[in-house]
Formats: sequence, C-alpha cells, structure tokens
Amino acid sequence: MATSKSRKPICDFHYNEEATVMCLKHHQLMCLDCVLEQKHKLDDCIIKGTEQLLPSEKYKYELILIIRGLAEKKLALADHIKQVGKKQEELKHTVEQQIRNKLQNWK
Ligand SMILES: [Zn+2]
Ligand SMILES: [Zn+2]
Repeated sequence: MATSKSRKPICDFHYNEEATVMCLKHHQLMCLDCVLEQKHKLDDCIIKGTEQLLPSEKYKYELILIIRGLAEKKLALADHIKQVGKKQEELKHTVEQQIRNKLQNWK
C-alpha cells in the first residue's frame, strides 16, 4: 500500500515525533520516548511496535492512520479558509486605504 507508507504516523503526545509503537487497545500512537516514560499506560493496554503487528492488527493500524489523515486534512482546510478570510480582510483594507488616499489627493 503506497499511501500508508508515504505518510509517517505521528506520536499522539509529541506531534513532531514519528510513532513507532501503538496501543492496540486504545488506538494510541506513541514514539519510543513516550513508551519509556509511560505516558500512556492503562491496565489493559496492548502495546506493540508498529513493525511487529500481525496482519489483522496492521489492518486496524492502517485504518487509524487513514482516519487521522482525514482529520488532519479537515484541520488544514479550516486553517486555509481562515487564511483566505484574513486575506480578503487585508485586501479590503488596502482598497479602502487607496480610495481614501485618492480622495485626499483630489482635494
Ligand atoms: Zn512521543
Ligand atoms: Zn492503551
């Protein structure tokens, strides 16, 4: 699967660290540091390296990555819409400023 290979899973606690470990029970992705620091550790955790997953577990893992990818895209889109709104506001301001300048020059 080319799509899942191309995007790196990100640690749930760091957001800039690659996740190499997963809790199969709670669908938590973690980097090695977080496992060592036990940032996610409940009684019924099933923690496994993402390279050591069984095919059925791998399937679950891929699904989680896809769902997360979609969530990220949604966030990016919301951010983009906000940016466009800001740009429009700026543009409006610039145009208003230009008109005001012109009016002043005509006096
Ligand atoms: Zn981490
Ligand atoms: Zn867990």
